Amino acid sequence: MRLIQGTSVSPGLALAPVYVVRASPAEVPTWSVPGDEVEREIERLERALVEARDELSARQKVVATQAGEKDAEIFGVHRMILSDPGALTQVKRTIREERINSEAAVQALIRRMEQMLGKLEGNSVRNHAADLSDPWRYVLDALMRVERETLAAGGSQVILAAAELTPAVMTSLPRERLLGVITETGGRFSHGAVLARSLGVPCVVGLPQLLGRLEQGLLVAVDGERGSVQLRPGDDDVRDFEQRRSRLEARRGVFAKVAAEPARSADGHRFGVQVNIESLHDFDTFDRTHTDGIGLLRTEFLYLERPQFPSEDEQFRLYRRVMERMEGQVVTLRTLDIGGDKRLPYFKTPAEPNPALGWRGIRITLQWQDLMRVQLRAALRAGAGKPLRILLPMISSIEEVLQTRKIFDSARESLVEQGHDVEREVPVGMMVEVPSVVFTLPDMLKHVDFLSVGTNDLVQYLLAADRDNPWVARLYEPQHPAVVRALASVARDANAAGKPVSVCGDIADDPAIVLMLLGMGYDSVSVAPHFVAEIKHALRRTTRDEARALAHTLLECTDCDSVRRVLTAARERLHAD
Ligand code: PEP
Ligand code: MG
Repeated sequence: MRLIQGTSVSPGLALAPVYVVRASPAEVPTWSVPGDEVEREIERLERALVEARDELSARQKVVATQAGEKDAEIFGVHRMILSDPGALTQVKRTIREERINSEAAVQALIRRMEQMLGKLEGNSVRNHAADLSDPWRYVLDALMRVERETLAAGGSQVILAAAELTPAVMTSLPRERLLGVITETGGRFSHGAVLARSLGVPCVVGLPQLLGRLEQGLLVAVDGERGSVQLRPGDDDVRDFEQRRSRLEARRGVFAKVAAEPARSADGHRFGVQVNIESLHDFDTFDRTHTDGIGLLRTEFLYLERPQFPSEDEQFRLYRRVMERMEGQVVTLRTLDIGGDKRLPYFKTPAEPNPALGWRGIRITLQWQDLMRVQLRAALRAGAGKPLRILLPMISSIEEVLQTRKIFDSARESLVEQGHDVEREVPVGMMVEVPSVVFTLPDMLKHVDFLSVGTNDLVQYLLAADRDNPWVARLYEPQHPAVVRALASVARDANAAGKPVSVCGDIADDPAIVLMLLGMGYDSVSVAPHFVAEIKHALRRTTRDEARALAHTLLECTDCDSVRRVLTAARERLHAD
């Protein structure tokens, strides 16, 4: 079968040779090796063994000149261990019998040795014995280096194929070389998918046994509009594909015409279209004047790209740069939202049985209050004379808001005492992403200045379906009546309290959903820059009354199918114009 149906997580069309990445750079990959390729796999192992021995000789020489022959002897011993045919025979047998790749077979050998040696009596015996498995790590390293370097080498543009859609896969190639991404698993609202949309890379997930059907360099057509992938398209298919691509580009050209206009409905109602920013790279992808500011600055990237927590001054400089880049437009800075699958390498949190329900977002920064204080000080200093707003993630109770407000006020006071220039009024808002908040909103609204609905999380918590777990991807359904009703209820409460309300979760990149939100009483949405023009185009074609009627119809739906049908019809109406 050459056409495989999956799920689109980022739109667009791409046609290019495929590059198969077997795992994220830090993991030891495992894949099946077809029978007729086993001997080639064994040659690959033997080449890696030679490289590992060369590496050990090089190290031996360096240490001998720097520290003396005696200290360098260990590398000679390691080389000898690698020359022992016994272990090599075991690895080859694993490859032949289990038909798996060399990396996995070497990893299995290391594990076996460690288990066996760990049982021995006495520390010194155990330590000495550990030397036996160590040299094999050089072989593993050589095998994985080849994989990484082949990917990095050459300047060609490719479609990446991987088992799982992770942030590491999305960033394993420079953007200009990445035409599309296809994976076996991955949720539409996982962090890998958020990145794909932010980078504007067509991406299709949920393609069973994909890697088994691919070989390096195979021509692949990725259809991020229909959520399918075609392997080895023929000449006619390629011609069709190119025609569709030109039509899509023409449509994008139409959207681009309204990109510079303010976002308004057909009856002239102003509706904010802001952008979500994941990294500094995002600033190169959009024109500031086409947006109504930043609705979500995910500050995690600043922490993820460092070897340790960034200092107050480092954060200040970066936030100031962002504010200056936006030239007077609002910047909504979300405080650190780590935990769950967003982990900092230098901040070890305990392994949790259920990370999505665990220690994350505000729960961490209220416990480690220094983190919160440093970030708020940096933000307040950077916001002097600028329209800064602070947004709090993962709020589940009024106490968390009050506690954060206290830290915020004391950070502000101490900055004033120290002679810093800070704004008198900085709006503090909260994300609505935990269901408890939906039911207590009228009380919570007394303590915050604005709301932003994080549907990526709200959907997973409302439906009890982990956004990153492929096994429940089918149950993670934003087009669910409970989601529609929760969204309407949030807008009603915010409107009644006279507080601005927005959606910054990724469902807002769907123009039909934006029309529903307009109809429910939302003031704005915040989306990846790539979607701004199409959303403005949809708004300009729809009156507020039409949007209200759409919201009303959706609120009457009692099952997911009817919600999907109504939204599909709304999308088709937009496409027909
Ligand atoms: C959300 O949950 O919808 C959201 C915008 O936050 P994140 O995707 O960063 O969790
Ligand atoms: Mg969230």
